[in-house]
Amino acid sequence: MPAYDVVVLGAGPAGTSAALRLAALGHRTALVERSDFPRPHVGESLSPGIGNILDYLGLPGLATAASGLSDLPGWLLWDDPEPRPILPEQRGPACMVDRARFDALLLDAARTRGVAVLQPARLLASERNGDTWRLTIRHGAAEMRLHTRLLLDATGRAGQRPRRRLPLSAETLSICARVEAGTLPHATHIEALPEGWLWGSPHPAGDYRIMAFVDPVNSLRPAARLSALLERSRLFNAAQGRVTAVLVRPATAHCDAEPWREGRIKLGDAAFALDPLSSSGVEKAMRFALQTVIAVNTLLREPTSTELAREFYEDRLTQAVITHGRWTAGYYARAFGMAEQPFWQARAKPWQLPSDGDASPWWERLRLALAEPASAESVDAPPLPPISALNDPVHAWNRPVALCPELRIVQVPCVIDDCVRRGAAVAHPALAHPVAFLAGVELVPLLDAVPVVGSLGQLVGQWADTVPRQAAVRMAGWLLQRGVLRLV
Ligand SMILES: Cc1cc2nc3c(=O)[nH]c(=O)nc-3n(C[C@H](O)[C@H](O)[C@H](O)COP(=O)(O)OP(=O)(O)OC[C@H]3O[C@@H](n4cnc5c(N)ncnc54)[C@H](O)[C@@H]3O)c2cc1C
Repeated sequence: MPAYDVVVLGAGPAGTSAALRLAALGHRTALVERSDFPRPHVGESLSPGIGNILDYLGLPGLATAASGLSDLPGWLLWDDPEPRPILPEQRGPACMVDRARFDALLLDAARTRGVAVLQPARLLASERNGDTWRLTIRHGAAEMRLHTRLLLDATGRAGQRPRRRLPLSAETLSICARVEAGTLPHATHIEALPEGWLWGSPHPAGDYRIMAFVDPVNSLRPAARLSALLERSRLFNAAQGRVTAVLVRPATAHCDAEPWREGRIKLGDAAFALDPLSSSGVEKAMRFALQTVIAVNTLLREPTSTELAREFYEDRLTQAVITHGRWTAGYYARAFGMAEQPFWQARAKPWQLPSDGDASPWWERLRLALAEPASAESVDAPPLPPISALNDPVHAWNRPVALCPELRIVQVPCVIDDCVRRGAAVAHPALAHPVAFLAGVELVPLLDAVPVVGSLGQLVGQWADTVPRQAAVRMAGWLLQRGVLRLV
């Protein structure tokens, strides 16, 4: 019977990134995908951060190879009464890909780099015996059995069973459709309307894709609802009466009530499905998958650190939910002239979870974290002082520095050599969460120097023994901006 360290279910961006990284760390990894590839998938507008993740995985250029359309101009009708252009340089290196091709290329890379890919295949049964899973899998026409130490669930939104799903925002439906190229200008478009919002983009296949995001409750059929929205739209009006291939998909933000269970861990949309407003679901799914790999690597290499690995995983997931929730509520609140509309009122509210006697410890922890007020950093950090201002001998350079009395040193899970270890970090009311490393350098030892130096200039000089001088100045600026360091 084949034996693996990890079996990953689902070969979307989260599952395949995790499998690639686990194989690179030397773990015997299998990936089980139920569909044949290439298969279509929503989530084709990739946010700029995807480039760093692909570089980290050793796959630069994969988005371009997936027929990526970059440098698209855009029009936004959201926070102003008139449409506003978005220039390609303002959007950063974002691009529109063919997801069928993107996922297939990612999976090819995993196969080439030693991941055992079972496709089309699905899990029929799982049985935990001590610290091992015994899985029964249908692979094509055959049934096979295999052993694994850990099971990762990256099956996407489908992976969250309705009873174990915690809705974080108002229930939302997306109505997806396409129109012929040339119907609308070759640009992305986003528009807020009283009953919902519209998004559209040219697609690498040559046509133009449109999505409407609306409340699910309405007696009209999806095609008629979309048509009504297009009719009153200013940016999408030319598409009215010309849409084809209308499909409906759920788009509510939710997370799993118990994403970490003994030996079975969720990642990507199966753990936390975002509101599509940010167009960053793929990036966030891959980012969290790589963080989950750190926890999994710790479980496999240092089983005595299981609780620490779990704490790290839950910290990162909590942080992802909170950051995304605050951003989306704030962005919905900015829609011009929509404050009285029920669709917008429901979504501009901060995310909350109900308390429940049967809640899992994770659910209760997330509920309390969501109820906490936002830190000054996540609300509105003041702009970083220009480096020239810090170098200015009159205003800053020669002034004495001190640590803020509200600063605390706490022990938190940190990533060291791809494993979770407990390390010292700086906690402060202006920081959204404790910070252990700044620009890859341990922060607490750097701050030890503060009480013994005379001035900001001397502090930077001392730090410049271990980090490049420009980086030392920037780090001082970052700490001053947040009030962790003070000029006295
Ligand atoms: C309407 C809508 C629009 C969106 N637009 C964007 C966007 O523009 N940009 C963006 O970045 N994100 C967008 N997203 C979000 C994005 O699609 C997801 O965040 C992303 O696909 C999550 O990746 P994943 O790997 O976790 O899951 P998925 O991509 O869903 O992959 C899951 C995989 O698991 C497989 N699977 C499912 N069940 C099983 C099973 N039982 N056994 C084996 N395999 C299984 C599936 O076939 C699939 O291949 C959008 C989401 C929605 C709903």
